[in-house]
Amino acid sequence: MASPVPVVRIAPSPTGDPHVGTAYVALFNRCVARRGGGRFLLRIEDTDRTRYDASSEGKIFEALRWLGLTYDEGPDVGGPNGPYRQSERTALYREMAETLLAKGAAYRCFCTEARLEELRATQRAMKLPPGYDGYCRRLTPDEARKHLAEGRPYVVRMIVPKEGETSFTDDLRGVVRFENRTIDDQVLLKSDGFPTYHLANVVDDHAMEVTWVIRAEEWITSTPKHVLLYRAFGWDEPRWTHLPLLRNADKSKISKRKNPTSLIWYRDQGFLPEGLLNFLALMGYSLPDGREKFTLADLEATFDITRVSVTGPVFDLEKLKWLNGEWIRGLSDDDLAARLVAHHVRRAAAPTPEDATHPVLTWMARHPGADAAFASIVRRSAPLVKERIRTLEEYGEIAACFFHDGLPTYPAADLVAKKRTPAESRDALVAVRARVAAAEFRAPALEAALRALADETGWKPGDLFTPVRTAVTGAKISPPLFETMELLGRDTTLARLDHAIAALSA
Ligand code: GLU
Repeated sequence: MASPVPVVRIAPSPTGDPHVGTAYVALFNRCVARRGGGRFLLRIEDTDRTRYDASSEGKIFEALRWLGLTYDEGPDVGGPNGPYRQSERTALYREMAETLLAKGAAYRCFCTEARLEELRATQRAMKLPPGYDGYCRRLTPDEARKHLAEGRPYVVRMIVPKEGETSFTDDLRGVVRFENRTIDDQVLLKSDGFPTYHLANVVDDHAMEVTWVIRAEEWITSTPKHVLLYRAFGWDEPRWTHLPLLRNADKSKISKRKNPTSLIWYRDQGFLPEGLLNFLALMGYSLPDGREKFTLADLEATFDITRVSVTGPVFDLEKLKWLNGEWIRGLSDDDLAARLVAHHVRRAAAPTPEDATHPVLTWMARHPGADAAFASIVRRSAPLVKERIRTLEEYGEIAACFFHDGLPTYPAADLVAKKRTPAESRDALVAVRARVAAAEFRAPALEAALRALADETGWKPGDLFTPVRTAVTGAKISPPLFETMELLGRDTTLARLDHAIAALSA
């Protein structure tokens, strides 16, 4: 019987950038562990040396740490069931393959690659499903011994019954059945002595006392093989849950071409860990009270995995941006500023070619060591942009006006107000400049002064503010105009107005 305290794990393979699917599965595993007072393990499944990427493991740790998806045991945190990297456990898999051979649950297969290729070609030509034909399963013990003595390379395959079916109960799908004749005599140990995923995964889940396997739906066809392995070893099966796959809008499995899949990308785009986690939790799950914005702690407090819906949740980036914006608006000004600073410092450490035109990163490059000045601009502008950004990265665009060293550049046409000539717009800016120069340099006073001017001259306030906005911020979209002027200060604001007046006078 499975222990009442859940021991769960994620077992990512280090084959590239950490995937959003890994975070998704980690989130639900962690909730199960926390809710049930159990343990959550991280195991690195790195036995496929052809796909191995040395930088990937560190990025997995980093991404999970960024998200706050901490684990109780793992390669970087230790634990009583280590080592937690499969490449450091290969002796165990070889021993377990021997155990299966001795039990008569597996056999050595000496088929050459050429024979297997020929077999596959014939199966293709005959429109048969691919699969091993069991040739070496029928070798006599003497033949097998002879091949072995000759030093022929071999793999170890599991003996799958030819008849009947193998079934298991999935938490979300009920009983799932597979006809045994559709299950291949799976290779367990490769000729290089490395295990396949199936052997290593089952051996480790057992050795690490995993009681409950919660993984993505794509592994469901592997599960009957795993069930057969548990039985062959005589071990208790874990509980099984296969989570729905995250999907693109067209319902295909989430893929790089249609949606960014790298967790590093989400971090670099300035999504908050809280926002991304919240969004992932909404993929197939909802809180009993239907609230859309909630914390990891809220989720863990009531989590019930049987409430996950198996219809493929669509990963909608726009919805994620919206939700992330909600999280940003919920931050205190100090917290938002601290995150904005940290985000840009991290971005500046690893710039991309496009960053050559990034308003904030170029400012940082022009002002090395000006950390305090940078933090001060960010802290003062954060409240002005809070309502307008959905990600930390969007800050750069909207707050660009605070990061021009010289004067902003823009097409002179942007200084011309609606239904007005350039000369009228210039005269209006001259009048604006006089009022601004005379006003107390606080947003309410500046606004009152310019509204009074609009009133006196018969301009619609909005029409008057448009050229002023361009002059002062260099952009059509900006933080609130008068707060922006106050933050920029009298000298900068007047210099920018003068520059605009000159541009219209040329
Ligand atoms: N190594 C597999 C992966 O990359 C693990 C699947 C499982 O959880 O069993 O996702």
